[in-house]
Amino acid sequence: MGQVYDVIVIGLGGMGSAAAYQLAKRGRKVLGLEQFGPAHDQGSSHGGSRIIRQAYYEDPAYVPLILRAYELWRELERESGRKLLTITGGLMLGEAGSEVVAGSLASAQQHGLPHERLSAEMIRKRFPALQPPAGVAGIYEVNAGYLHPENCVEAYLDQALAHGATLRFYETVTGWKATARGVTVQTASSSYTAARLVVCPGPWASSLLHDMGVEHRVERVAQFWFDAQDFYYQFRPSQFPVFLWEVENGVKLYGFPALDGRAAGVKVAYYPTRDWTTAEGLDRNVRQEEVMVMRNYLQGRIPSLASADCIRTITCMHTFSPDGHFVVGHHPRHANVVVASGFSAHGFKFASVIGEIVADLSVAGETRHPVALFSPRRFG
Ligand SMILES: Cc1cc2nc3c(=O)[nH]c(=O)nc-3n(C[C@H](O)[C@H](O)[C@H](O)COP(=O)(O)OP(=O)(O)OC[C@H]3O[C@@H](n4cnc5c(N)ncnc54)[C@H](O)[C@@H]3O)c2cc1C
Repeated sequence: MGQVYDVIVIGLGGMGSAAAYQLAKRGRKVLGLEQFGPAHDQGSSHGGSRIIRQAYYEDPAYVPLILRAYELWRELERESGRKLLTITGGLMLGEAGSEVVAGSLASAQQHGLPHERLSAEMIRKRFPALQPPAGVAGIYEVNAGYLHPENCVEAYLDQALAHGATLRFYETVTGWKATARGVTVQTASSSYTAARLVVCPGPWASSLLHDMGVEHRVERVAQFWFDAQDFYYQFRPSQFPVFLWEVENGVKLYGFPALDGRAAGVKVAYYPTRDWTTAEGLDRNVRQEEVMVMRNYLQGRIPSLASADCIRTITCMHTFSPDGHFVVGHHPRHANVVVASGFSAHGFKFASVIGEIVADLSVAGETRHPVALFSPRRFG
């Protein structure tokens, strides 16, 4: 039996790294346990970029949280001295009545967020890489941009260490137990005890949270980089926004400027893929057919990429809750266990505020943030 901690955090990805930092900063004795290395590429928080935006089409209820998330990302930049969040502007495209366009507009209007409405013609003129056909509408959001996820995770891990946390990598949790007296966490090599537990499992939710009564489904997705050297001027970060384009059947195509210079390519992706998997069984090989599907979505929309070489791919996983909203709160069976899971393909931008919420719930039992939407008990 090892040292007794105040809180053990299982999983040091996007959410767990932020939670470990927030808890350590509040003076708790924190142990973080992670099965892979720091800021690895085996889960859900890798690939060099994540969109951050405020006009939340998924539900306006997320807007107060995202505003706080921006503040906390800026705070982490100041504390760590790293550049993490870059504002490029963000363009949401689709039919006027689509979820992405109508929902973003409703959120922007309800919360007074700075935005512009653009016609297809205005979009083609302003961002010539994008060639939406007539009838496609755009909402341009001034404060959208991207986060560098690996740097965010690393910055949180570094700052957690600086605040006294103990972080153990390459140590897989094989089980945990909670009783009224505390928690015990078992790993392949050791056993640890603490007063409280925080579980941030990402796509491994079904193995670490199997008795919670919430079904998590894992979707295999890929990220693609296309060679845009000939069109680099159109994709420069100073010229080109992050974008999210709802195409047929609710499929969303999204992408970024050429973030890493001329030769590194332009990253694009699409979802849903409905390619259901498990974290343990994930096929990490991206097939040529998948590149073809990506190319088809680019065809007639971003022609310069549709005809370019695909120079890099990597898989990633989305972890869906049954209703697509996050699962953040006390474990329904254990008052001393807080969970943060089911980020349903849109969680990274919130990691900073989720860390704060998890620390509030774990330390004080409550939070000032509106989290009723995320209750783990809502599924009955
Ligand atoms: C391709 C792609 C694009 C995305 N784009 C966006 C976007 O633009 N904007 C956005 O906001 N969100 C986006 N998302 C979603 C977002 O990235 C995720 O919601 C977020 O990263 C989830 O973080 P997490 O901490 O839950 O999971 P992870 O970062 O995967 O962390 C879970 C951690 O737990 C560890 N772990 C699990 N089991 C164990 C165990 N038994 N023992 C020890 N450690 C364990 C894992 O190794 C991992 O490090 C995207 C996701 C993908 C895949």
